Amino acid sequence: MEMINGKTRTCGLIGNPVEHTMSPAIHNTLAEKCGHNLVYVPFFVEERQVADAVKGAYALNILGLNVTVPYKSEVIKSLVEVDELAAKIGAVNTLVRTQGGYKGYNTDMSGLQRAMESEGIRIEGEEIILLGAGGASRAVAYLCASKKAKKVYMLNRTFDKAQKVAEEVNKAFGCEIIVPMLLSDYPKLPDGKFLTIQGTSVGLAPNDNEAVIEDTAFYQKVHTGFDLVYRPFTTRFMKLVKEAGGQAYNGLKMLLYQGVNAYELWNQVEISDKEADAVYAKLKEEMGL
Ligand code: NAP
Repeated sequence: MEMINGKTRTCGLIGNPVEHTMSPAIHNTLAEKCGHNLVYVPFFVEERQVADAVKGAYALNILGLNVTVPYKSEVIKSLVEVDELAAKIGAVNTLVRTQGGYKGYNTDMSGLQRAMESEGIRIEGEEIILLGAGGASRAVAYLCASKKAKKVYMLNRTFDKAQKVAEEVNKAFGCEIIVPMLLSDYPKLPDGKFLTIQGTSVGLAPNDNEAVIEDTAFYQKVHTGFDLVYRPFTTRFMKLVKEAGGQAYNGLKMLLYQGVNAYELWNQVEISDKEADAVYAKLKEEMGL
């Protein structure tokens, strides 16, 4: 990082909690690589103070903010503009300074798309199994619909949540692309091999030995498994996919590229794959790998 001086620009993260974030490693490394006089810091924001935080950040000339749990939806009412896909998803994780206020984007989704592309995984025309119907899976469902997946079987422990997301997405895209299912009904999935996106919080450290589905027969249906979880680096879901002969990836590249895409929006630059690789190495180092 350059010396902090009178010209230093500030970006940051608002959320609750923020202590475990790896975003400072992403953005401060990028600033260093790009030679930008920019610092990125976490800001802990108390409940009911999101609007004040956004207003205060604008008044302090803050260039951009990331938004994390639990404020990704709540923050929308404090913005002057919202990108079309982020508005459809109803969740924003990146605020970009514009005239009069911040514009909101969802780089979690563009980041997931870029992470998948970087691994050669395609969505268009694919039949996909999506495990989970929480905030992240809901956004994945929108991404799959917007990128023209053929069909998405959305399996969730609480069927009603999957049904609600399916209704919303199908209505937004005017088709029956999302098929909601109860998680335990996975044996009723059609025959075939699927790209499977793991969007539940099961298997997240410290519960490293858990997978949302244990049955090895299920994994015979998975040609590629993409776990949104990245802690541990190799999740149990990934192990089960690999044991059944499939390719498996974790969510660290999604985290990387949501940050890279946010950095590009704030600084109007393009980050090369080589620069992104250097940040990825830094993230692995932060994880003690
Ligand atoms: P969330 O809104 O809390 O949703 C949690 C999901 O997990 C729900 O579908 C929930 O099912 C399911 N679930 C939880 N415990 C379960 C259990 N014991 N059995 C079966 N299903 C269970 O969380 P989220 O924001 O969607 O995040 C989900 C995961 O994605 C997190 O672990 C996070 O690490 C990861 N993520 C990664 C990135 C990245 O950049 N790589 C970004 C965002 C999120 P019910 O609806 O039945 O409760």
